[in-house]
Amino acid sequence: MVEVTPPHSDRAPRRQTPVIIVGGGLAGLACAHRFAEAGVEFLLVEASDELGGRVRTDEQDGFLLDRGFQVFLSAYPEAGRRLDLEALDLRRFKPGALVFTKGRRHRLMDVFRAPRHALSTALQPIGSVRDKLRVGKLRWEMLRKPVEAIEAGEDLTTAEYLRKRGFSEAMIDRFFRPFYGGIFLERDLRTSSRMFEFTFKMFARGFASIPEKGMQEIPRQLAARLPAGSCRLNTPVRAVQQTGVTLADGERLAAESVVVATDAGAAGELLPGGPEEERAWRSVAGLYFSAPRSPLNEAIIALNGDDGGLVNNVCALSDVAPGYAPEGRALISVSVPGLPDFPDLAERVRAELRSWFGGEVDQWSHLRTDRIRRALPEQSPALSPAESAGYRVHDGVFVCGDHCTSASIEGALVSGRRAAEAVLETRKGNSSGRPA
Ligand SMILES: Cc1cc2nc3c(=O)[nH]c(=O)nc-3n(C[C@H](O)[C@H](O)[C@H](O)COP(=O)(O)OP(=O)(O)OC[C@H]3O[C@@H](n4cnc5c(N)ncnc54)[C@H](O)[C@@H]3O)c2cc1C
Repeated sequence: MVEVTPPHSDRAPRRQTPVIIVGGGLAGLACAHRFAEAGVEFLLVEASDELGGRVRTDEQDGFLLDRGFQVFLSAYPEAGRRLDLEALDLRRFKPGALVFTKGRRHRLMDVFRAPRHALSTALQPIGSVRDKLRVGKLRWEMLRKPVEAIEAGEDLTTAEYLRKRGFSEAMIDRFFRPFYGGIFLERDLRTSSRMFEFTFKMFARGFASIPEKGMQEIPRQLAARLPAGSCRLNTPVRAVQQTGVTLADGERLAAESVVVATDAGAAGELLPGGPEEERAWRSVAGLYFSAPRSPLNEAIIALNGDDGGLVNNVCALSDVAPGYAPEGRALISVSVPGLPDFPDLAERVRAELRSWFGGEVDQWSHLRTDRIRRALPEQSPALSPAESAGYRVHDGVFVCGDHCTSASIEGALVSGRRAAEAVLETRKGNSSGRPA
């Protein structure tokens, strides 16, 4: 394995530290950030060769390839507090989508942001005029509904919720399924309506965006603010105890408190008897193509509004952030939900997109396919994380990650900060870090 040593890597063995954080995704980094702020010494140990967890970007032939299509919602409140958004140089998507049905494209815009599209959006054959008015009402309500009220609200599946609000099946099938299917990585809309309301609110308050230099700029920014020597890469943890951790190579690191900030699956293995059992995962295949020109020519997401097909959403990332592609090329991102097991997936996708964009897809060259099995933890109402479970698993051992809050960048950041605060709370007046 190639070992990458960032500025914060510390290869010298450390035997004693107040807190060990296991996992350097956004949750672990947010947790670390909070400890740094509180002046509490910590050591973050990360299994892989870089920090960022599921938010990673690779450079390939002048292209920036995020590991799976992801967007940052500029209105995420915790992210707004933790990150320097200006320094991320966020590039916005247009507020709306192009919906492809039966080979025809229809433009559906957020008319509050793009009022010149109000009439054409109302008349598009994607849902009725009533549906569009219902979207306006939902938007008005969500802008006023506090996040705490959303978190404590009724928990239905998103499909049940939309039907309850009176949306037509056509609107659900042609717009909500592909749009939120791309976010939830499932088109059944079985995801918790709390997650739907929160995401809808974020779209109403801000923009979907990507940093000009790739999604990994988000964890990089957090990592850059941590004390030198506080993170160790290529350091998988094999077991967690109340008094520290055992690394995969057998080394033992002692600590007063341990925060397990891994994904849900690894947490289930590291915390036997803890609340985080292995759970179902949403998977996705993300395909990248290099093209001589963009098939869209604008910073917008294109959706599959039909029932069948492999593809859910497409966009030209270089139309959004030019830095994603080298001069003279366009970078096309295609998301296929699930883990389709076709060896010729790229060719099948190209064939499907011929009905969207015509023969120009034959000039595209396939750059890479990321098959991401553990993309998002299942977030149906029955599996909604129980806030009441808290972040302490047992004495001295804490847990965080997107599986504790919501499967998103924001959820991971919130959970990391909350876990750190739970540790800080038990440390108050108790130097062992364990409850008295
Ligand atoms: C394809 C895809 C699309 C997404 N789209 C969006 C989107 O558009 N918007 C959005 O807000 N969110 C999106 N998300 C979700 C978001 O990226 C995640 O919710 C978030 O990054 C999870 O962060 P985390 O820190 O909880 O977990 P992770 O990122 O999984 O971090 C866990 C870390 O723990 C490490 N680890 C695991 N086991 C061990 C061990 N034994 N020892 C040491 N370290 C260990 C891992 O290597 C990893 O670095 C998407 C995710 C994917 C994959």
